[in-house]
Amino acid sequence: MAFDKNDKNIKNWRGIKRGSMLEDHKQKISLAKKGTPSWNKGLLGYRAGEQHHYYGKHRSEETKEKIRIANKGTMPPNFRKSLQWLKGKAKIRDDYTCRICGLREKEIMEVDHIIPNAIKPELYEDLDNLQTLCPNCHRRKTVGDRRLIFERRKLT
Ligand SMILES: [Zn+2]
Repeated sequence: MAFDKNDKNIKNWRGIKRGSMLEDHKQKISLAKKGTPSWNKGLLGYRAGEQHHYYGKHRSEETKEKIRIANKGTMPPNFRKSLQWLKGKAKIRDDYTCRICGLREKEIMEVDHIIPNAIKPELYEDLDNLQTLCPNCHRRKTVGDRRLIFERRKLT
């Protein structure tokens, strides 16, 4: 028998007809799966489909725009200048240089409240009340502040 590469009846080493395997296989799978639920049916998790709070409530672009406008100017309070942001500002203003000893080392610089928070809490987020200090001078300043606070407490 002559070898004909187009003869679909020639079987390969697995006993499967050449060339037709893939299609046959696919058909078998799709037939077997017909009528059976998809693998993820019932597995969609918490409040899927109709139960989901967003069901049937998809916002149109127009609605989204309305929400955007409504939210304008009503930013939550934590959007205001944070202390961290102010400290960064103070360091840049002082060019990362210690105001007491003049040391300039960007990585280690700290920001101090000139008038301590315990004395004037209203100046806590005031850039003018912040100064850049090196850790050494900061420690020394804090010790002085504590004494100051202690003395004030004794007076009042
Ligand atoms: Zn210093």
